[in-house]
Amino acid sequence: MIAPASPLTTVQLQDLTRELVTGLARVTRRIELMDDDSGDEPGLDSDQKLGLVTQRSVFERALSRMADGRYGLCETCSTPIPYGRLLLQPEDLVCGDCLSSQ
Ligand SMILES: [Zn+2]
Repeated sequence: MIAPASPLTTVQLQDLTRELVTGLARVTRRIELMDDDSGDEPGLDSDQKLGLVTQRSVFERALSRMADGRYGLCETCSTPIPYGRLLLQPEDLVCGDCLSSQ
């Protein structure tokens, strides 16, 4: 079976790459800021930080899928994810159906 190509246009992919890079930078920055002022409310901080670290890995995964041309296709069933949804959630890696069945 030949892997389906991403249904997005080059321009759309460029836009989404920019969104992902910006998002990744934002999350990375927040993690760095948390590392700076550790000590206050350690429980809350570590929960928040875990969420940010998870978010960062999702951005990184989305960018690596972008690099190998599979971005925009559901990670689970390879259904194309609509561009409108990717614009809102560029780090989404699964389609709506797979998301709701998780
Ligand atoms: Zn799917």
